[in-house]
Amino acid sequence: AAKRAGGNRLQVFTEQLRVPVQEKLAAEARVRRALAGDPRVTLPLWFQPVVTTGTGRIAGAEALVRMRTPEGEILTPYHFVGAAEETGLIVPLGEHVLRSAVDHLRHWSDRLGYVSVNVSPRQLAEPDFVPMVAGVLAGAPGLDPSRIVLEITETALLASTVDVSERLASLKRLGVRIALDDFGTGYSSLTWLKSLPADIVKLDRSFVAGLAEDQRKASIISAVLWLARSLGMSTIAEGVEELSDWEALKAAGCPAVQGYLFSKPLPGPEFDRMLRESHESATTDGVHLNETTG
Ligand code: C2E
Ligand code: MG
Ligand code: MG
Ligand code: MG
Repeated sequence: AAKRAGGNRLQVFTEQLRVPVQEKLAAEARVRRALAGDPRVTLPLWFQPVVTTGTGRIAGAEALVRMRTPEGEILTPYHFVGAAEETGLIVPLGEHVLRSAVDHLRHWSDRLGYVSVNVSPRQLAEPDFVPMVAGVLAGAPGLDPSRIVLEITETALLASTVDVSERLASLKRLGVRIALDDFGTGYSSLTWLKSLPADIVKLDRSFVAGLAEDQRKASIISAVLWLARSLGMSTIAEGVEELSDWEALKAAGCPAVQGYLFSKPLPGPEFDRMLRESHESATTDGVHLNETTG
């Protein structure tokens, strides 16, 4: 009876696992097709504005990859980035993301300050990563490399087998900027602050949501802002959804924010429209948060 129960349990277990595994294999195959140039599956970038707290102006944008399936569905990274990481496809996918982000930035050059891209641990560990970034920059002569920001997560740093500070130092020598993404969610945030040559701290949204009603969150944010400033780093608060949280961040002196309050990530053409509108209104009046509230 025990054996049968065990058998049954195993059956249930594999049944539950089957869907994600198949989904992963399908995702992997589709990433492969997209990277091979199949026009029916594409990996477009969507863009979310990073807003200067004081003025409400668009300072830069984070590029977030999406998959457009042959059925016309738009998938978020949750559905395919994990599979791409496991198979190593994240390496060519990451290169595609960087090239596309740089192309967009050149196109928006006079309206957008910078673009940031997410870099996975596997990419950072690749021996060819720094030369790849150098190659992309070489293909964009005249573009100030500090307008490219590479976002690295704390967990990525922990999992890494390479000397991360050395690798980041090499990237910094190329002139790009480094952001610590999802800051505060890892185990040793202070260690990273001490040793890594980063320029920007992206405070995780778990510290931001409900900040206006939570004195402990407010204290942590003030401390991180002070610490970052003392180390010569800038701070971006992620996941700002509520006006009250934005006001609390402004009062705390947080220089920049990102979140649904201003805009969700948008497809290129829609982000382009938002940039044009905010550029136009910036020339007629100073503050124009209303146009970018979504
Ligand atoms: P992330 O880098 O921390 O990006 C922020 C995520 O939070 C995005 O989800 C964004 O849509 C979402 N977000 C922004 N504002 C708000 C808000 O106000 N409220 C809430 N609830 N969420 C908000 P997305 O686009 O689904 O991306 C998820 C993660 O996938 C990213 O987290 C990043 O780690 C990863 N990712 C995205 N694009 C790439 C890429 O090109 N390469 C790699 N390696 N990873 C990527
Ligand atoms: Mg990010
Ligand atoms: Mg983040
Ligand atoms: Mg995140």
